[in-house]
Amino acid sequence: MCIVGAGYTGLWTAYYLKGIRPDLRVVVLEAAFAGFGASGRNGGWVTAENIGARDKYARQPSGATGVRALEAALRATVAEIERVCGAEEISCDFVAGGRLAVATTPAQLARLRASLEEARAWGDGEDVLAFLSREELAGRVNVAGALGGLFAPHSARVQPASLVAGLAAAAEHRGVVIYEATPVTEILPSMATGGPGAVARTVFGDVRARAVLRCTEGFTARLPGARRALLPMNSSMVVTEPLDEAAWREIGWAGCETMSDEAHAYMYAQRTADGRIAIGGRGVPYRFGSTIDDRGETSPATVAALRALIRRLFPAAAAAKLDHAWSGVLGVPRDWCAAVNFDAGAGLGWAGGYSGHGVLAANLAGRTLADLVAGDSTELTALPWVGYHSRAWEPEPARWAGVHGLYALYRAADRLEGRAESARQAALAGVLGRVGDAISGIPH
Ligand SMILES: Cc1cc2nc3c(=O)[nH]c(=O)nc-3n(C[C@H](O)[C@H](O)[C@H](O)COP(=O)(O)OP(=O)(O)OC[C@H]3O[C@@H](n4cnc5c(N)ncnc54)[C@H](O)[C@@H]3O)c2cc1C
Repeated sequence: MCIVGAGYTGLWTAYYLKGIRPDLRVVVLEAAFAGFGASGRNGGWVTAENIGARDKYARQPSGATGVRALEAALRATVAEIERVCGAEEISCDFVAGGRLAVATTPAQLARLRASLEEARAWGDGEDVLAFLSREELAGRVNVAGALGGLFAPHSARVQPASLVAGLAAAAEHRGVVIYEATPVTEILPSMATGGPGAVARTVFGDVRARAVLRCTEGFTARLPGARRALLPMNSSMVVTEPLDEAAWREIGWAGCETMSDEAHAYMYAQRTADGRIAIGGRGVPYRFGSTIDDRGETSPATVAALRALIRRLFPAAAAAKLDHAWSGVLGVPRDWCAAVNFDAGAGLGWAGGYSGHGVLAANLAGRTLADLVAGDSTELTALPWVGYHSRAWEPEPARWAGVHGLYALYRAADRLEGRAESARQAALAGVLGRVGDAISGIPH
């Protein structure tokens, strides 16, 4: 078995596959090093939400029941990751503190209420998603200007690079062989290889296997034949120096909940184990032609925007120095719905397209890919994201214009919402946001 990409998706797949088929030879081919991609540089949110749109998954044969099963499986994955971290002694600062979504404008509050209503319509009770008043929220975290929030208990915080490093070691301990510095230049299905099995072509030679699994998420556009499958979207982060005790007394956040706001171009944040605030946002969303800047460099404008966000939301941290800034790339399907696919005949499989929410979902995807490759029909292989296909992204320049237009709309909507002094301004912001959602197909 050959897996391309040593991020969470590839490594979880390898780990579980060795668990259910210990005799199988499993190799992972990695262009750089294990955890080089988004898995080693994300916001550390282990969250069970936002991998796709309920109404789209509900069009699969399992219908609404399948959607509920998928959501329950995602929620249960928080405990599964915690279990493996314990069993494999992966120390990654795991704290299952839940997730907070915070509203800082009336429009954001209205969107939070709408998503709560939608969750209730799908049968989610208080144990899945609960509304927090301004006072209840302040009892957890003091966010300046917060009007209220939502709390979802099925979420945890991790140190992402420690998780992927520990996972690579655990997979190797089970007998998986990881070849680093081995870029795959092409993946060929069995019918095109003139022999048994599929092929992963590398600069060092071909690797032939019963199946080749593409676990390359944000980098997928570099592979021939997959250029328009997943859009490489950039995300950027900064982390403050450790804050002193007085600042933490002011901010609170003792529960280490992961946190986002409800802006269209939203931010995500965590309190790290060593007392810093790590916060991320979109920055430069996309580069023309799906080119990928994988050096992690972050523009001064993006750093300044994230610094301003820290000052606005956490005044007690306003004077804190920023110790690091970095960027990474994640994979977005045309309809923002993640998928797991395996074609036994062609000997090809892939999983991804988590649109910025893959830390938890990659574990479920990895377990599912492992079952599919092993030929086992399980509860996981019946979930509606299995066999789900999104259409391809538009060719350039439409793709570039669409994504940049979308984020220009979102930023304009957020600016207007932030200073909306009249009902007219608020209404205009609402229209801009909805136009953006309609163009992008982003589920809420
Ligand atoms: C800044 C940032 C913050 C994020 N924050 C969060 C968060 O807080 N919570 C959350 O759930 N998600 C978050 N995400 C998204 C999440 O990190 C990803 O969804 C997840 O890590 C995807 O894992 P993966 O294994 O599929 O892909 P990756 O981790 O990107 O791994 C793919 C691997 O494949 C390798 N590769 C690519 N092409 C080839 C090739 N041709 N040959 C060989 N190897 C190849 C790459 O080098 C890489 O190591 C964030 C992403 C970024 C960039």
